[in-house]
Amino acid sequence: MDLTTRFAYDSFRPGQEEFARRVYEGCMSRQILIAEAMSGFGKTAAVLVGAVAASEETGSRVVYACRTKRQILRVIEEVSRMQRKHRVEAASLLTKFDYCLLMRQGRPVSPETFGLYCKFNVQNNLCSYFLNVTLSPGEFEQAVNRALRAVPSHLELMRDSESIHVCPYEVAKMAVTQARVAVVPYHYVFDERIAPTLFDRNSLERSKTILVVDEAHNLRDFLRGVGSASLSLDQVDGAIREADALFMEEAARSLKALRIILQRTVSSSPGWLLDRELLLEQVRSEQGTAWLQNLAFELTACSEAAWGSFQYRGLPSFIPKTGEFLSRLSSAESEVLVNLDGGLGLLEPNPVASLGQHLQRFRSSVLVSATVNPSEVFRRSLGLDKVEVSIYATPSDPSVTVRTVIDTGVTTRYKARTPQMFCKIADKIAGIISSTQNGIGVFASSYSVLQPIYEMVSKRADGRNMVKETRGFTSQEAAEAFDSFRSDRGSVLFAVQGGRFSEGEDFREDMMDAVVIVGLSLPPPTATLYAEYECLKRAGEKDSFLILSRLPALRKAFQAAGRHIRNPGKKGMVFMLDQRFDSSAVRELMPAWLRTDIVSGDFNPPRLAEISAEFWSRPD
Ligand code: SF4
Repeated sequence: MDLTTRFAYDSFRPGQEEFARRVYEGCMSRQILIAEAMSGFGKTAAVLVGAVAASEETGSRVVYACRTKRQILRVIEEVSRMQRKHRVEAASLLTKFDYCLLMRQGRPVSPETFGLYCKFNVQNNLCSYFLNVTLSPGEFEQAVNRALRAVPSHLELMRDSESIHVCPYEVAKMAVTQARVAVVPYHYVFDERIAPTLFDRNSLERSKTILVVDEAHNLRDFLRGVGSASLSLDQVDGAIREADALFMEEAARSLKALRIILQRTVSSSPGWLLDRELLLEQVRSEQGTAWLQNLAFELTACSEAAWGSFQYRGLPSFIPKTGEFLSRLSSAESEVLVNLDGGLGLLEPNPVASLGQHLQRFRSSVLVSATVNPSEVFRRSLGLDKVEVSIYATPSDPSVTVRTVIDTGVTTRYKARTPQMFCKIADKIAGIISSTQNGIGVFASSYSVLQPIYEMVSKRADGRNMVKETRGFTSQEAAEAFDSFRSDRGSVLFAVQGGRFSEGEDFREDMMDAVVIVGLSLPPPTATLYAEYECLKRAGEKDSFLILSRLPALRKAFQAAGRHIRNPGKKGMVFMLDQRFDSSAVRELMPAWLRTDIVSGDFNPPRLAEISAEFWSRPD
């Protein structure tokens, strides 16, 4: 097996070839492999070459699943590089919403109602882009072949499809089912409502697919989101209004009756857990046995026809949302019903219950992450302790030099968040900025911590280009912020841990010299968390706080801390501003590169500047 001829670069970095070989062997021997390598190691290129080599030898496909669009783009960049050296057909697939050409000609449609919009137009032959897929098979096939030869950018695919008047999603979908390497969001693999698009209804067979899961430490969070649904009473009110406007009189009457029952359920229970069976029993006794199922069907199926018939100004959004919730309420068995502020939630208390079985359906699975340590807890957190799993962790790159400074004089603990505390944190960050010439990334535990810190530091560190992440950034806004950061070598980026800049963004070479981690982003106590705690406790898990709260928060911090290490030989500083980072338990959980050279204490700003200056004055 020759990895070098397939590898996108002239040579391997230290440890990369061994990593690629381990992936290759894991894929050949049908393993579930957990593979860890530090930030900046070049994991993607190494995993790709190992997985592609195995897929070519076994006649299987590679499906590379990523959490975010940004991560998909980065994988695509690596695939394109590989294609310049080694001929391999590859494609990527986002959501229909990302590709729709019809929508661009009319009124905007929200992502929530888009499914209804596309289905209606396709079923009623109103979308010529879709019709042309079968009316112009030759041109469609050529577009697919072009996409397969070299993965097009999103813009290129849109332009190419528009020029022959076909739906770009259909082109991308067909390309993905024929490609050796398919790069897709997690949804196409782990969301059972969407996965059939790729696997059951198309040509991909799981048993002939090598699955690669990028940033696999996110899987539990993702599966929790997929397994949950919520419905507020305000949304039921919205559905009533929409049903009235669409002349769905029967549905409007039923929704009003439903609202009364739901209101009663929510207000009669003081705790977070609601009795789902009791609610269903009440519905059955008051309205009849199949009433709920019929209403769910009417809301999901009939609103579409009603919308088309009456040319309602806007697409209904609350009706399908209510319909979907009711379908899940009346069918799913494992989900628990909880009281969310002003509404109801359905939660899957053990979101990883069937993950092991699911992964076993693939020829092999490679779960890639920079933060696997401790591997046994990682395994249990993904419910993989009952299936056979191999673990491979690359040794830390000795050429990377990182000094970690833990500051114990501050914290973002909720009760300690006073203006004085934020001032103290801002002073320390200003001290760090004053002694660091190149770029700095400041990663806060949440947006509510980020905003005051940003305002205070801006006043203290005048003359530096300050760039801030904002909640709900569009891809365009994020790209502009990134360009602004890149435009000035001394820029300071303010972002949140776990956000788009702390994972998946590539701060190449010497763009960033220091990272400041502000606070620990423990998840807030919610009904979802209580339900999961309860479930883990019942399963005999002793480390439920570690698995559900502490480790995810630390992983976000460690991921962000590694942002500035993008190549071998990199030198940089990490400042962890929160006393909660200063414990032996946290040090044990740190990746090795982060705990090689640690100093801790309550440092004043001049001392922080001194520590930083001393580090940068060390000979290489
Ligand atoms: S088929 Fe394609 S172009 Fe037509 S509505 Fe659906 S996504 Fe849009």
